[in-house]
Amino acid sequence: MSLNHLQIWHKCLVDIKKNVDERSFNTWFKPIKSIRLSKKILTIQVPNKFFYEWLEEKYVDLLGKVLYQQLGQGAGLQYQIVVDDHKDIEGNYKKNIEKKLKENPYIKLFDEEFNNELNKGYTFDNFVEGPSNQLARNAALSISKNPGKSSFNPLIIHGGVGLGKTHMINALGNDIKKSNPNARIIYTNTERFTTQIIQALRDNSIYDFINSFQLVDIFIIDDIQFLEGRKKTQEIFFNIFNYLHQRDKQVVITSDVSPKDLKGIQERLISRFKWGLVAELQKPNLETRIKILESKAQRDRLKLTPDVLNFIGYHVKGSIRDLEGVLVSLSAHSTLNNRKIDLKLTSEVVDTFSHNMSKELSIANIQQIVSDFFNISIDHIIGKTRKRNIVVARQLGMYFAKKMTELSLKEIGKQFGNRDHTTVMHSIKTINDLIDTDSLFKDTFNRLEHKLEHSLIKSY
Ligand code: ADP
Ligand code: MG
Repeated sequence: MSLNHLQIWHKCLVDIKKNVDERSFNTWFKPIKSIRLSKKILTIQVPNKFFYEWLEEKYVDLLGKVLYQQLGQGAGLQYQIVVDDHKDIEGNYKKNIEKKLKENPYIKLFDEEFNNELNKGYTFDNFVEGPSNQLARNAALSISKNPGKSSFNPLIIHGGVGLGKTHMINALGNDIKKSNPNARIIYTNTERFTTQIIQALRDNSIYDFINSFQLVDIFIIDDIQFLEGRKKTQEIFFNIFNYLHQRDKQVVITSDVSPKDLKGIQERLISRFKWGLVAELQKPNLETRIKILESKAQRDRLKLTPDVLNFIGYHVKGSIRDLEGVLVSLSAHSTLNNRKIDLKLTSEVVDTFSHNMSKELSIANIQQIVSDFFNISIDHIIGKTRKRNIVVARQLGMYFAKKMTELSLKEIGKQFGNRDHTTVMHSIKTINDLIDTDSLFKDTFNRLEHKLEHSLIKSY
């Protein structure tokens, strides 16, 4: 008695189930429909191209084996992809996907959270141009006029800490949003992206997560170096990347090292990066440093003489973040001690600034680094919000302030939004508990710690 295709597929599923864990089975095999069997070729229907690529990549051997067991010599598999069936006209296509994705929880999340993640304060207008950033800036501007259609896809911006990567990609996102308010932009950082994937894998919604990218027009992701060693996240990123790239959707990536120096990242991913443009943000030269200082001083309504501007420009040669740091101290010193900003005060400030940097991180540095790391504003970190992710960032900030500075609990509390020293103690305890009990958290913790220590070595 010969079995029909449904029975065959059912038997295959029974075998597959013995070979994969339950989660993978539910995610990758349950949604498959058997369509027909003809001359030992079984046609199965998968929900989309991702799915197909994923199966081909991860399960091709298993599928081959179980099919062979049922059908013997000559067994074959053919895929039918659902979404691609609706490719009539672009409009219809989109509508169909939209209908399909209506139930997808991530779409809502993207709309609510990711779309609003862009920092509106970072624009091209307040990004000072210079030889150190010209290539990246021009590429970003041209993408903004024509997302996905330029040859700069993906655009990879790399450069050291504090040289303007995050500023630039936000400017790009904001600019696109301005000329095309309906563009669906996903702006995220690698930390967040990874956490999301881990969670999606945990609660079996990875397929929804990946699928939600079907509606995305522009995908901007900051600090890709954090993909280091994360195989699963890299795989999923690779799939999403291919999917978007094939459809002329724009991908923008930043990294703190050049793609070829990215460690622990799969070669095939790195070679994809070469399809687009790799642009470096370098340290600004003297002239640009002075222009940046002028622009920041004007923004902060600080009146600085050319002498003072030149002095800072000459002596502070690190990142733009450092230039900003000096301006902040300068303004604080002049206000607190009621002193005029002259060359004398400036040289004192630059001196202490360089000195401090070499010894220990200031609490402001720590807050800044935590803020960058989680992509949460400092205002939120020291503010009153009780949102879970912000609370954790805040607690980590306090934890590292205690660990990495000489400040007292009382002083740390004060600088974290006037909190009590017992709050700081509580935070430290919470972090220690989390490290012990939550491996995902431990991982994040390690990377943040690495980042903080790294910044200590790098500055001056
Ligand atoms: P990165 O992401 O490379 O570490 P950021 O984008 O966070 O660096 O930049 C650090 C700070 O320097 C930000 O406040 C940013 O606004 C400022 N900055 C960087 N480049 C420029 C520039 N060309 N003009 C004006 N400000 C800049
Ligand atoms: Mg950054």
